[in-house]
Amino acid sequence: MSLTLTVDGERWRTHLRRVVDANPGLVPVVKGNGYGFTLGRLARKSQWLADQGTGLDTIAVGTYAELPEVATRFSGDLLVLTPWRPFGAGLEVDPALADRVVHTVSRLEDLDDLLTREPRARFVLEQVTSMLRHGLGTRDLWATAAVLARHRGARLEGIALHLPLAQGSHLSEVSRLVNDVVAAGLDTSTIWVSHLTADELASLRASYADFTIRPRVGTDLWLGDRGALRVSATVLDVHAVERGDVFGYRGRTAPKQGHILVVSGGTAHGIGLEAPLGDSSIKGRAATLARGGLDAVGFVRSPFSIDGKQRLFAEPPHMQASMLFLPHGPRVPAVGDEVDVRVRYTATAFDRVVLA
Ligand SMILES: *Cc1c(COP(=O)(O)O)cnc(C)c1O
Repeated sequence: MSLTLTVDGERWRTHLRRVVDANPGLVPVVKGNGYGFTLGRLARKSQWLADQGTGLDTIAVGTYAELPEVATRFSGDLLVLTPWRPFGAGLEVDPALADRVVHTVSRLEDLDDLLTREPRARFVLEQVTSMLRHGLGTRDLWATAAVLARHRGARLEGIALHLPLAQGSHLSEVSRLVNDVVAAGLDTSTIWVSHLTADELASLRASYADFTIRPRVGTDLWLGDRGALRVSATVLDVHAVERGDVFGYRGRTAPKQGHILVVSGGTAHGIGLEAPLGDSSIKGRAATLARGGLDAVGFVRSPFSIDGKQRLFAEPPHMQASMLFLPHGPRVPAVGDEVDVRVRYTATAFDRVVLA
């Protein structure tokens, strides 16, 4: 009845161990929908990795709102990736967690404000990168030293860099940013980074041997071995249709003989329309029309596949189920059969996650 993520537990755990062992100082990112696994499960898995003696001591959440989901399942430090601001959820952290939470500070005025409210706050200073998302520019980074001198209890845990997904090498940008840290005279030697390749990390560690480099990793950790993961939906109903038969919310008619399949998985799960098939030019559409192509009558590719082939939505996905059109010919699945689904894990809410 469900949209299910089935995990080959042994293979997944082996992969997690391998990634963590290969990356000393790695910080698992546990945010959003938990990369499809849920936050709670990833927090527990992070604790399991820590218990293996890997040295894993910190996880990163995306927002303050996510802290309660992970704090009872993972006992180490909790880095919050969204920068602290003098309003909102960052002001309402459970005092019991205050000593485990590491804030991200990305503006000079926020640094003074945070430390005035919480003199012993733990935090990283984020430097702006070519992402241009959050972070201190060079001048403001230099000015932080003076602010920190006024707040003696402040606990600076490092510098954070959020880099774009690799398009060529990050190394020259990272070197420039780390040189700024050195020039700013800040009392830290830890750099928290994202999206560096293994080679870039190695070369950074070699060039800045007195710095500790801590990679924050989500996708490559949790989703790095896709072969350990399978997503499936259940066939809930099958209806044979003739050309002209009416179906669906909008009273469409079947363009030819085939089957309407109702499968689990809809908009509430994050199932969406895929890009239309092939050539959308008028000439292209005329050609598919002439061939009797279903896309020409407005059918759109779905993420559900049967016998290795992606099938068409009979109409846009419903909230928890989808209707597919299977033209006459291929094997027709039976009610209760499982079909494969291609999803974006970070945008999918599974009904069930099964560790097999
Ligand atoms: C999400 C996020 C990451 C992890 O990104 P992945 O691509 O999932 O590894 C790292 N750093 C920051 C600041 C993030 O927001």
